[in-house]
Amino acid sequence: MVEVPTPQPGPGQVRLKISAAGACHSDDFIMDLPEDNYSFGLPLTLGHEAAGIVDKIGAGVSGVILGAPYAVYGPWGCGLCYRCAQGHENYCEKTDALGIRPPGLGSPGAMAEYMIVPAPRHLIPLDGLDPVANVALTDAGLTPYHAIKASIPTLHPGSTAVVIGAGGLGHLAIQILRALTPAVVVALDVNEEKLRLAREVGAHHTFLSEQAAVRRIRDLSAGKGANAVFDFVGVQATLDLGHRMIGVGGEQVIIGVGSGRLPVGYLDRPHASTVRSPYWGHRAELFEVLDLARNGMIHVETEVFTLDEAPLAYEKLRAGELRGRAVIVP
Ligand code: NAD
Ligand code: ZN
Repeated sequence: MVEVPTPQPGPGQVRLKISAAGACHSDDFIMDLPEDNYSFGLPLTLGHEAAGIVDKIGAGVSGVILGAPYAVYGPWGCGLCYRCAQGHENYCEKTDALGIRPPGLGSPGAMAEYMIVPAPRHLIPLDGLDPVANVALTDAGLTPYHAIKASIPTLHPGSTAVVIGAGGLGHLAIQILRALTPAVVVALDVNEEKLRLAREVGAHHTFLSEQAAVRRIRDLSAGKGANAVFDFVGVQATLDLGHRMIGVGGEQVIIGVGSGRLPVGYLDRPHASTVRSPYWGHRAELFEVLDLARNGMIHVETEVFTLDEAPLAYEKLRAGELRGRAVIVP
């Protein structure tokens, strides 16, 4: 915990008074980086899931309402390239060249009283949604939503979808699969409490994340295997499991930032299978995720901490003791 000056919004920028900030396993990944691989500068204010109230507006900004509550779309792009023009700022072509970094992942993030948002387009109206209960939708909701949406054509009636890791992102992935697809949803985790949560939020089946799960998933899919596996861990053990579970045309989707590797060659995988590594989500998709929550089709299991308690939240995250998402309220 350090004191930093209260930031002032420059031209085109907006200052938020933070109402809530989510704690993600990616923060743990950043805190664990060896010094040689750490490129974000210090001090770095963490927090890439943000919700707050517009508190001060920079010169030339219009279109946002002073005093109104917003969620922050975090994967900031240049706003001008081809991909940004499609609303796919998470895949902006210019971020590296322009040095654009997301909040909490290079730019000062939301684990503070105030945060600067570089353009009003990154603010999505909360429109009645509670900021504390819904802040995690900006990443733990948006990221699985983006990953699952691309797999919708394969998740037809009679299909099987597997979620590996029923934590912050995974417990939302289960709900999004139930809301958007008729697939049978199977959740795997190493922790019985997480498997209980998975069942409570809609998983049809839950198994321990171990070799025996491959046979169980083959059995419940009449031998066909999974149509899609969403891996929210990404270590060697889970990539190997996913590889063995998918059927012909299966989609193995790696979201977890682990260091596992997959063999890819004609003889290595089921015919027509694919591997994807999606990152965060599109701006329009965040509107869609917030609407799913407004319609009561998804919700975030949250544990609330004060800013002073944030280190404790990360200890619990690391120990696997959180139910759903930790949310920090300054
Ligand atoms: P989390 O800690 O809340 O959840 C991880 C879950 O995985 C826990 O329930 C844990 O028990 C379980 N797990 C651990 N090892 C396992 C194993 N071998 N098999 C099955 N389950 C296992 O983490 P989170 O915040 O949901 O983040 C999940 C991952 O997604 C992290 O790696 C994070 O960095 C990454 N992430 C990626 C993106 C992206 O855009 N691709 C965005 C956000 C987070
Ligand atoms: Zn994240």
